[in-house]
Amino acid sequence: MKLARGPVIAVAVIAGLALAAPLLGLPDPIRMDVAHRMAQPSWQHPLGLDEFGRDELSRIVWGARASLAVAFAASLIAGLVGTSIGVVGGFLRGIVELTLLRAVDVVLCFPPLLLALLVVTVLGPGAGTLILVLSVLYVPGFARVAYAGTLSVRAQDYVEAMRALGATRPRIMLRTILPNIIGPVLVQLSLAAAAAIVLESGLSFLGLGVVPPTPSWGLAIGAARATMDQAPLLLLWPCLALTATILAMNALCDALRDALEPHAAPRTTGQRLRDLLTPGRAVPSGDRLLELRGLTVAIETPQGTVRPVREVSLTVAEGETLAIVGESGSGKTLTGLALLGLLPEAARVLTGSARFDGADLLRLGETSWRGLRGDALAMVFQDPMSSLNPLHRVGAQIAEAITSHNNVSAAEAAARAVALLREVGIPDPARRARAFPHEMSGGMRQRVMIAMAIANGPRLVVADEPTASLDVTIQAQVLDLLAELKQQSGLALIFISHSLPVVAEIADRVAVMYAGEIVEEGPVDAVFGAPLHPYTAGLIASAPSEDGKPPQAIGGTVPSPEIVLPGCRFAPRCSRRIDRCESEPAAMVEVTPGRRSRCLRWAEL
Ligand code: SF4
Repeated sequence: MKLARGPVIAVAVIAGLALAAPLLGLPDPIRMDVAHRMAQPSWQHPLGLDEFGRDELSRIVWGARASLAVAFAASLIAGLVGTSIGVVGGFLRGIVELTLLRAVDVVLCFPPLLLALLVVTVLGPGAGTLILVLSVLYVPGFARVAYAGTLSVRAQDYVEAMRALGATRPRIMLRTILPNIIGPVLVQLSLAAAAAIVLESGLSFLGLGVVPPTPSWGLAIGAARATMDQAPLLLLWPCLALTATILAMNALCDALRDALEPHAAPRTTGQRLRDLLTPGRAVPSGDRLLELRGLTVAIETPQGTVRPVREVSLTVAEGETLAIVGESGSGKTLTGLALLGLLPEAARVLTGSARFDGADLLRLGETSWRGLRGDALAMVFQDPMSSLNPLHRVGAQIAEAITSHNNVSAAEAAARAVALLREVGIPDPARRARAFPHEMSGGMRQRVMIAMAIANGPRLVVADEPTASLDVTIQAQVLDLLAELKQQSGLALIFISHSLPVVAEIADRVAVMYAGEIVEEGPVDAVFGAPLHPYTAGLIASAPSEDGKPPQAIGGTVPSPEIVLPGCRFAPRCSRRIDRCESEPAAMVEVTPGRRSRCLRWAEL
């Protein structure tokens, strides 16, 4: 972290002068020399004497102690309390969010002066009372900033990735959310500290703050205002001190924000399709590892309940790669997220069961999920740049995936992180472990994501478009790596993709999804070689091929989930459609063992 030196030095000088006031050999700030009231600046008293004949320089320096102590203490307390409220409310949502945020809104309803008067009446004036009043007043500002930041950060893939790794909620809030909202919180801290210094001055001026004769800038401004006709400089000195301190504070917080801001890096994009069908591949026939039956996902909308995933049934065997393919909006990603218990808040599982390792994944509580996700069941997300925390070194992120599930020392976790980086083919892994995500290429970042996913030896990995953001060379390397890891460890893979060439290269079996339903399923060679559903045939025709044939796009678009069709959902786009297709729902039929189609005319295709 590189921090601009100027603001640090300025704040250090101001705070240092205030702290070192007893050591500077200044005259006693409360000793009066009434005979020389309001004396002009001299060698002995560089800023002159005030209305009671006290040394003005000494009172300004000693006054900084009271003003800064009150401002820093109040803004730090408000920052801690308000940020905690905002992060907890924004992350947990629901009743916690409602309770905390409404409580904060109540504070906002109080006029500051009225609140100060109320508290001073009860507790009496003084620095302690002032800190309490200012802390309460500034809590809502911090809570709102942290709440807004948390709402935005909690939607990021790297937060989902931490949940997928099984990290606890407090750990995610502290290690993932907080570092990523620290920039705006620091800006708020600078604003609160600056406002607190001004308010301390105002309240002390009104007799509600620091009690005379203790020097403070607010008291100095109040007193100088009464004598400004005779000694205008007495008003200038505390105002200058106040202004310089606020400017230095603002500059320091800006510098801190710049230094802590998450690093951004351009995304690698671009993809080229290849025809990679390789007939004759053997399908693994291990024990059944996952059995998903009748999964329906519902989303409540103002127009009613929509079902973007309907009656999806799948099985995955030990060591098998099942690909789920389909256009955007077909429901493949929601199916994957439902299997990991990571559905977005608006969505819920309506029906279905998912047997994995003796448990029903669709009925697990959050505590059971934390033990399973990132351990026996892991996920690789599409965009490694947004799935990795930009503020943490990659080695630390892999180590965190290990310590979330294992009772190992930090040193051991770090050593295993380096070993995992080596395993996923990252050269010079010890050095790379110290890199931040933005210092790596797209392919390397995806290798890091894979290292995190396999850190605890999962039995099943759900990979959601893991190569979609990579160029074709890196894409091939990542696919080779996944195939190699599968061979070495025997893990099973659910590979979600819209790319048929990629699926043809990596999958054993394929399930084709359309408009929330599986429309065809079977061994990848059989399905791609002789499709038994017009949608599968359309997808194959729309993929670029090596023989130079121009791809033929499927006309029309995927219907949105709220559209209810009495017959086949592909009928509006289907070139093989007959009248029956529009009135009779097409059921999934088992054509041959392991081969299923949802087309009324499969026998004619
Ligand atoms: S059921 Fe009819 S409309 Fe649907 S895919 Fe088959 S042929 Fe096309």
